[in-house]
Amino acid sequence: MKPSGLLPLLAVILMAAVPAACGQEPPPPPNPDLSSDLRDSVTVEGVLGHAKRFQAIADEHGGNRAAGTLGYDASAEYVAGELRRAGYEVEVQSFELPGYAVIREADLDIAGTPVAATDFALMERSADGEVAAGLEPVDARGATSGCDAKDFGEFSDGNVALLRRGTCTFRTKAENAQRAGASAVLIFNAGEAGGEVLRGSLGGPGIGIPGIGIPVIGTGGSFGERLLAREEMPRVRVFAAEGGDTSTTNVIAQTPGGDAENTVMVGAHLDSVPEGPGINDNGSGSATVLEMAIQLAELDAEPRNRVRFAFWGAEEVGLVGSRHYVEGLGEEEIEDISAYLNFDMTGSQNFVSSVYEGPDEVEEVFDSYFENKGIQVETNSALDGRSDHGPFQGEGVPTGGLFSGAGGTKTERQEEGFGGEAGVPFDACYHRACDDIDNLSEESLDTLSDAAAHATAVLAERGDP
Ligand SMILES: [Zn+2]
Repeated sequence: MKPSGLLPLLAVILMAAVPAACGQEPPPPPNPDLSSDLRDSVTVEGVLGHAKRFQAIADEHGGNRAAGTLGYDASAEYVAGELRRAGYEVEVQSFELPGYAVIREADLDIAGTPVAATDFALMERSADGEVAAGLEPVDARGATSGCDAKDFGEFSDGNVALLRRGTCTFRTKAENAQRAGASAVLIFNAGEAGGEVLRGSLGGPGIGIPGIGIPVIGTGGSFGERLLAREEMPRVRVFAAEGGDTSTTNVIAQTPGGDAENTVMVGAHLDSVPEGPGINDNGSGSATVLEMAIQLAELDAEPRNRVRFAFWGAEEVGLVGSRHYVEGLGEEEIEDISAYLNFDMTGSQNFVSSVYEGPDEVEEVFDSYFENKGIQVETNSALDGRSDHGPFQGEGVPTGGLFSGAGGTKTERQEEGFGGEAGVPFDACYHRACDDIDNLSEESLDTLSDAAAHATAVLAERGDP
């Protein structure tokens, strides 16, 4: 509703009398400087500061920040605290993790002696149960222990299988053991991280597959070696039960003003996998989004459109947090989101600058930025729905984002364009314990956080699309 030419003064008076709440004022002219202002203030030091805090949180909480753990809760608390300090009103949205409890209680006795709780860990997605049976090593000195069903050829039904980590997934080992009649599985650590207690998951990122039907426990490498060195295999008792809290959270904050019907959402998942601290996946994206939120508030920019920042829980177990959020939105609330930008891994050591493919109106904002700056960029068509943009995409919200590469291998062509090393993974520590604070490329963080700030600023100042 625009005032007619004869009434500007009256309109001004009316607007002064009825403050912002009525929402009828014409939008302010777009601020062409917001992109450069935000890029200048979002620095690699700022982003790294948050990443270091995520590392410290993981160190204090068993080495990871996985959904349902205290490490995740501490990460969410940190992000919420930083947002509040920047002046945002913060919503912490709690939701249930479906089908299984992540925090559980477990006991392990070897030959009648309880093992200290710090010396073993129940694997994520393991079943509950109580088992007392003989321990039976299955090719436990070999590098492929339990990876082949044939390894269990002589296995005695009902025994507890003792396996060594390596070659295949924990899930494959556990499935083979379960099929061979094992009542529980003990997997001990091996390789570089062999000194640590093995903390693993029987699921996988983004997979909605059911859990395993028997308890599966991880232990340290020397613990396993000591068991193997015994003359006679002991009887073991394994007890696993659901326990503790089965809910987790999303953290959400938005600018107080701006056109709500043109809300730009910017998000990143905040949870790690149980295997490690998740500093590149996705401490990098979380730190980038958090720093953008803080700096946008510091700038006092009052962008034309509302900007909403989201830190998703439980992405690694199947996009649970973002799905929960989107499912809770009404039709109008979904229509009000003009774009959703996702940042899941922005600091890969052997990085590429990938832009999510389409729709044009969003992809173009990123592409033109890289082109204007003369920075190498590629379009990644394989990211459809693979991260938290998926649920938004499913509702028809235009989505986009950036990605610096995960466990895949860099090609010769990518090496030519981006540097780094062909034939090795973009992130050699993807979903591993070594995804720590040393697993970041500052160049990647710098390049991608600038592009993220640009896209956020442009969409925040864009007129009705
Ligand atoms: Zn991720």
